[in-house]
Amino acid sequence: MADLMTTDPEVGAIIRAENRRQHRKIRLIASENYVSEAVLEATGSILTNKYSEGYAGARCYEGQREIDRMEQLCIQRVKALFGAEHVNVQPYSGSPANQAVMIAMAKPGDCILGMSLAHGGHLTHGAPVSISGMLYRSHQYGVCRDTGLIDYDQVEKLAHEHQPRLIFCGHSAYPRIVDFERFAAIGRSVQAVVVADIAHFSGLVAAGLHPNPVPVVDVVTSTTHKTLRGPRGGMIMCRQEHASAIDRAVFPGLQGGPHNHVTAGLAVALKEADSAEFRAYARQVLDNAAALAEALTRRGFRLSSGGTENHLLLVDMSPRGLSGKQMAKSLDAAGIVCNFNSVPFDPRPPLNPSGIRLGTPAVTTRGFRESEMEKIAAWIEQVADIRADQSADRDQRRERYREIAAAVRALCDGFPAPGLRYRSNGKPV
Ligand SMILES: *Cc1c(COP(=O)(O)O)cnc(C)c1O
Repeated sequence: MADLMTTDPEVGAIIRAENRRQHRKIRLIASENYVSEAVLEATGSILTNKYSEGYAGARCYEGQREIDRMEQLCIQRVKALFGAEHVNVQPYSGSPANQAVMIAMAKPGDCILGMSLAHGGHLTHGAPVSISGMLYRSHQYGVCRDTGLIDYDQVEKLAHEHQPRLIFCGHSAYPRIVDFERFAAIGRSVQAVVVADIAHFSGLVAAGLHPNPVPVVDVVTSTTHKTLRGPRGGMIMCRQEHASAIDRAVFPGLQGGPHNHVTAGLAVALKEADSAEFRAYARQVLDNAAALAEALTRRGFRLSSGGTENHLLLVDMSPRGLSGKQMAKSLDAAGIVCNFNSVPFDPRPPLNPSGIRLGTPAVTTRGFRESEMEKIAAWIEQVADIRADQSADRDQRRERYREIAAAVRALCDGFPAPGLRYRSNGKPV
């Protein structure tokens, strides 16, 4: 970062500090990852200098020879990896990808059906605070109270009652596999377009370790930066019959010029994902999540749905007498980063909910395996005990978190992550 440090030491210092943080903390945020040096190089390239509104062979600006080749290469790789008929890689991120699908498939005021945010769905699937819930008449389904699994009967009932134009499945905080066939059947029975949003688990799908909705539903959206381990971005896959509606919705419907440097980074990530190494990585993401779930359950933690079948788990902290926010903040002080999250039927408000969400994609990229999951579970238990200890004051608790954070740093120093250049003592690797 020599040029950056000269031109703008202020920004340079912030990036350096964040680099250190990403090295020395255990990152369990289920949507985060570490991209490779190759993805960082492509994403930081001179492709950021080019404007290319439109699509290959039909752009609004000249000088597109290389950009057209690059975008088409990226599209080919998505098609090969996911078996998609048509692909659009221009959405700026997952949220605009979903917005574009709504623009393509529904008119404002139409009815849409999606999974409630409080039960693990995403904001953009019709939450009232999001534009998807403001412009469309949104109805929401959830999970069953006893099993924590999606209430497919409720989905079916709501679909017949409200005749939605669009039905969203896919999630941000649901530890189980979605039955895409069931959603497709419900969609057919009411002539709704079924959209599967695989933002969180598209890397698992690419590796062949999670059911692939692409051949099953009408449209599939995804982010590119979660388990897929690419740069921040979005993409849409669909049947040929929807191709022109989707493309027109992305541009000119919603966006202007695509972020070519990000498309290049995505192309690189897709090449990486089509490899035995990546498939082994995805396998380990699942094995680590299962190991972490098992170790926490053994320690008496309550997991939503009783466990996990994917890369994430939801832990209800209420049996420990803690809120999710208290737990997430205490864990961060101990060097373990996660987010507070609602659990289904949460009696607490969304911004101060009962649960935490834990995911294994980032720690698996840096090489953690089952034995590290065991250590993490033990630290999580220690943090919960410290936080709940009424006899200790705030400073005493801080001191005990700091001791754990030092042990976390020592572990992290043995697992350098791609793209990170500083050890926990600040020295370059
Ligand atoms: C993360 C996520 C998104 C949104 O992605 P952004 O890149 O944050 O806009 C959309 N849908 C689901 C299910 C997600 O998990």
